[in-house]
Amino acid sequence: MSTILVINSGSSSFKYQLIDMDTENAIASGLVERIGESSGHTTHRGPSGTSERTLEIPDHTAGFRAMLDAFAQSGPSLDDDPPIAIGHRVVHGGKRFFEPTIVTPLVELNIEDLSDLAPLHNPANLEGIRAAEKAFPDVPHVAVFDTAFHQTLAPEAYTYAIDAELAERHRVRRYGFHGTSHKYVSEEAARYLGKPLADLKQIVLHLGNGASACAIDGGRSVDTSMGMTPLEGLVMGSRSGDIDPAVLIHLSRRAGLDTDGLDELLNRRSGLVGLAGRGDMRDVTRAAAGGDASAERALATYLHRLKHYIGAYFAVLGGLDVITFTAGVGENSEVVRAGALEGLGALGIRLDPERNAVRSRDPRTISADDSAVTVLVIPTDEELEIARQTQAAIA
Ligand code: ADP
Repeated sequence: MSTILVINSGSSSFKYQLIDMDTENAIASGLVERIGESSGHTTHRGPSGTSERTLEIPDHTAGFRAMLDAFAQSGPSLDDDPPIAIGHRVVHGGKRFFEPTIVTPLVELNIEDLSDLAPLHNPANLEGIRAAEKAFPDVPHVAVFDTAFHQTLAPEAYTYAIDAELAERHRVRRYGFHGTSHKYVSEEAARYLGKPLADLKQIVLHLGNGASACAIDGGRSVDTSMGMTPLEGLVMGSRSGDIDPAVLIHLSRRAGLDTDGLDELLNRRSGLVGLAGRGDMRDVTRAAAGGDASAERALATYLHRLKHYIGAYFAVLGGLDVITFTAGVGENSEVVRAGALEGLGALGIRLDPERNAVRSRDPRTISADDSAVTVLVIPTDEELEIARQTQAAIA
């Protein structure tokens, strides 16, 4: 069996999935969390069941040892059948990394160098890579970048209209994120429809805790709502998305917020959390249905922004064949899907309410038969996409 182990490493936790590349099924998965705290925790799902352990996990290296113990206990055995490669999710690849890349010491230095663009993510991703290299010294490690899919953006789509020389010096431009998901979902949409990817103009709406829209023409990303960082664009669980930059100037002058205070405000106390006091869309839609005014406002603002991007990307693409909803909110919330597309009949976008109400984990069509634009729900699978790209990189 050829398997690939996919690692998604954060600063105090990492998730993993072992994928059988012949069937593309996950045969084991798990989570190592509370790394560096007084008591850490591991959860592992393997062929012989689920195992959990609470133990001290001082760092990522210890976390990987705990993961190997869990594989030894609940299977499958990695000693008998080691993975052919390890695929690592890396958030920021800057403009340097436009495809999955086999990790070398130089690649690690470059990922480190990009940390000032993604201070929360890249150092944590790199810690995961370095710990995994100790656990699997004889296996190729591949970095798969969230930004890579958006390297096809034209300069006019990625340029911020500020002092060009200053921007160049500090690498200020739009990069876009969720690329692994946008790529996977747009390819699955073409496959589901039985049409060549090259012929399709698509909008993918990845709506999770983080959220982004992507305009995809013939399989190439031509615009996306996240920018230099994952803060720009749609209203998210706790992030503001688009905002007049002068608001920051105003708040620093009038409300005494320094850069850390602004960072905290925009990344953690904004979006649904800022407007409705809760970041989970399930809570917001429930409260809005019950007449809670702040939840109603939060939901309406979220939907207004989504509609704004759908219209914008229709124009950017010069037409539209498919809109696909994905990720936690996109896959599960019929209220959000219906609200985002309400009143777009003039653009040829018409939902079928009964199809939209179906709950399923399978790809499905939710547009009406007379809708010029096909609307789909397709569950994303970033781990599988990372595994596919890892396999391609080592081939
Ligand atoms: P992440 O960005 O963390 O990967 P996910 O894609 O898993 O997030 O999405 C998580 C979000 O999905 C949750 O915050 C929740 O708001 C939303 N969600 C999950 N199920 C539903 C549902 N049935 N209705 C509305 N929102 C949902």
